[in-house]
Amino acid sequence: MAEAGSFADRVKQQADIVRVVGEYVRLKKSGQNFTGLCPFHAEKSPSFAVHPTKQIYHCFGCGVGGDVFKFVMEMEKCAFPEAIRIVAEKCGIAVPRQKEQSPEERKENQQRAVLIEMHREAQTFFVKQLEGTLEGKAARGYLEDRGLDKDAIARFGIGYAPSGGDALLRHLKLQCDEKLLVESGLVSRDQNGSRLFDRFRRRITFPISNESGKIVAFGARALGDDMPKYLNSPETPIYSKSNVLYHMDRAKEGIRRQDFAILVEGYMDAIAVARAGISNVVASCGTSLAEPQIKLLGRFTRRVIVNYDPDTAGQTATERSLSLLLEQDFEVRVLALPSIGNKKADPDLFIREMGTEAYLKLLKEAPPYVDYLIARARQMDLTSGEGKRQAVNFLLPYVQKIPNRILRSEWATRIAQQLRLDEPVLRAALSKAAAERRSEVKIQPQLVGRAAKPVERRLIRMLAEAEGFRQELAKQLQDARLFHGLETEKIFAALVIASLSGQPLQATEVGAGLEDRDRRLLFEILFEEANEPTWEEAMSCIEALQHRQAERELAEVQRSIEANPAAPELRGLLEKKQELMRRLAAAR
Ligand SMILES: [Zn+2]
Repeated sequence: MAEAGSFADRVKQQADIVRVVGEYVRLKKSGQNFTGLCPFHAEKSPSFAVHPTKQIYHCFGCGVGGDVFKFVMEMEKCAFPEAIRIVAEKCGIAVPRQKEQSPEERKENQQRAVLIEMHREAQTFFVKQLEGTLEGKAARGYLEDRGLDKDAIARFGIGYAPSGGDALLRHLKLQCDEKLLVESGLVSRDQNGSRLFDRFRRRITFPISNESGKIVAFGARALGDDMPKYLNSPETPIYSKSNVLYHMDRAKEGIRRQDFAILVEGYMDAIAVARAGISNVVASCGTSLAEPQIKLLGRFTRRVIVNYDPDTAGQTATERSLSLLLEQDFEVRVLALPSIGNKKADPDLFIREMGTEAYLKLLKEAPPYVDYLIARARQMDLTSGEGKRQAVNFLLPYVQKIPNRILRSEWATRIAQQLRLDEPVLRAALSKAAAERRSEVKIQPQLVGRAAKPVERRLIRMLAEAEGFRQELAKQLQDARLFHGLETEKIFAALVIASLSGQPLQATEVGAGLEDRDRRLLFEILFEEANEPTWEEAMSCIEALQHRQAERELAEVQRSIEANPAAPELRGLLEKKQELMRRLAAAR
């Protein structure tokens, strides 16, 4: 990847992986390494390690690992050239202009830049329409009815898309070609493909920004009775709805500081909560939360209060989001707002009618999700056996998703009490769910690295870093074919080739040539605390391998003897057996 002498190589030499990773993960010095909570899988105790001298990272939990570029690529979901640029910028290294890019990459990057610029332009256009036109005045009236004054409109960049059908199109056409206009999602083509028109018409617009604050899409609410009530930008090269959380760009500081996030359904809700001075709020802007959104959130906190709409759709969305959040090991509470009069209250309505103080109070008292679920289950008919069975079946999947075994069993008891379950069958189902966790069983085989024998681990470590003799060691291992047939054979093969070259080891490059499980094992070994290796130790490891090789051969010879070979062959085999036994006896 990073060729010697290339710009990438230079950046890698100068970049400090601990500092770069430290911008995303809270790292603590631990022995010769730094450790922290893995940003790529949910966990409570740190198994993610960064090696300051080898400049690599590795997670002992989920097995990810690599160099500083790989980390940034995974974290920022970007391509290699982009990662180089990001690392260079973080480390204050001047980036040569676009030289590293392939023509396709350059084209894609340019296209993305144009799309972002188009959204910026569209935003200015929508804002002007709201402020300065007759149609816009009606929209302002609607917003005022919803309690959004001038300040709020300006603060959240709310705008208006006029009803004409091609106003934005005519505005943008001056600067952009047709293909890009359609690609931006701001403009659509009619069914027979001949005519272009604005996607958003007669709608109030809400700019949706990515995490770094660039507008990448719009959400739009119909002003009249047009359907659908809410219309969003389609998926485009700069926007994927499962990757973006509305208001994240402004909420992230507050979320990190307070170590929890409030999750609401729509942008009006997020705006209402943020306006009430509660900045750590984001909206999923869709019916349900998607996994990449949870990962994004997980970079800032593991604690969430879900405050979705109280209608049926909102309840379903709450329950689906709960499942996903629990799977990712989030600590979840649920705020179900009480009705106001006979109106079901979403956060927007509630704050308008009842005020910020009342909302804050309920937020503080929001119960853990299990209480919320029990309350939901209690709404089912619990007088019949069938009803109870239904309620338990509703709860079981959630109980199973609780990562902590003790908590799981506590909740099982609690559910049994609350639902007044005495039927042994139902109780048994709950206890069984508490005892087992399906995903645990599923995940485990990947999590357990193969345990290589200590001698192999030690030799692998020496091949990686014993600068004084790794070349000589590689030669001996190679000549005597000592690593053939070992479980770690492929790791040895790759390290031997790298060591014979006489160049210092690039762990990531060796790892890149290996299968995933071998790379994981290699990185694990590189991260072990270990003493300075000596040549004497290397030799005793080699002897141990020779011994094992002789044992393997002996077993093979023995099998051949037992297969009743012809007399001359048998003689040869017996001689070989004698020799191997002598060798083994001498080594003892
Ligand atoms: Zn991990």
